[in-house]
Amino acid sequence: MESLFNLNGKIAFVTGAARGIGWQTALMLASNGAKVIINDLADSENLQTKIKDAKEQNIDLTTLFFDVSDYVQVKNAYSSIFKEFKRLDILVNNAGIMEDSMISTASEAHIEKTFKINTFGAIYNTQYASRLMARNNSGSIINISSIIGTKGNAGESVYSASKSALIGLTLSTAKELAPLGIRVNAIAPGFIDTDLVSHFSEEIRQKTISNIKLGRIGTPEDVAKAVLFFASDLSAYITGQVLGVDGGMII
Ligand code: NAP
Repeated sequence: MESLFNLNGKIAFVTGAARGIGWQTALMLASNGAKVIINDLADSENLQTKIKDAKEQNIDLTTLFFDVSDYVQVKNAYSSIFKEFKRLDILVNNAGIMEDSMISTASEAHIEKTFKINTFGAIYNTQYASRLMARNNSGSIINISSIIGTKGNAGESVYSASKSALIGLTLSTAKELAPLGIRVNAIAPGFIDTDLVSHFSEEIRQKTISNIKLGRIGTPEDVAKAVLFFASDLSAYITGQVLGVDGGMII
């Protein structure tokens, strides 16, 4: 029986994939047969070294650098995806930033930047990706939300709101795009060991881990496995769902 994880022949696009969850997701999808295009803001020597190392493991990644929060850049990116690959099967809206702020003092610039990248970026990409997917009457869109978007956290109201918005986006686009054969799901990671949370003090880190029932911080691979599930036919009958990948942080 053919593996249900098999993504052979599929074209996948992962935003914000130079490091962290996006990078591991790109490796996971490519290891399971997809042709993966990774996006990030800019190229770097470090990224090129990682891509070269991946190639030695027979993982071939294509890059497309642009700012997900810029509508025109997003539009142009999908023109080049269409030109080069003629189709798109999987979109992972992963690019995101998290800057802590209290609601009473959050600056206008911080509020706008957070929403432009975390929320508008996902909306722009979903718009153009779904147009390409609709041509083949199939596709899977995965939005990386957050446990902070489903449960909230003091000191992160702006980030939380930007991530809750992705759940509204997931639910509405799941309804709108289902007749076109496109599934849309969200993942709400808990506390995952990446640069995004590296500024946490050791005290906060330990306190957060003490709330995780499985007793450890999550890895980018833990999230990538859930992305693979939603990207593949294992979840063929699942749309409009939000899956917590948090080691039991909220139970
Ligand atoms: P990360 O290591 O900081 O990676 C984020 C990536 O997004 C970086 O490569 C970054 O590029 C890229 N990016 C930022 N702004 C961009 C833009 N405007 N256009 C294109 N790319 C951009 O963070 P991560 O932990 O892997 O986070 C990935 C996603 O998971 C985020 O949406 C985050 O909110 C979510 N998440 C993370 C956690 C966690 O505990 N780590 C928990 C819940 C949800 P640069 O390198 O150029 O900055």
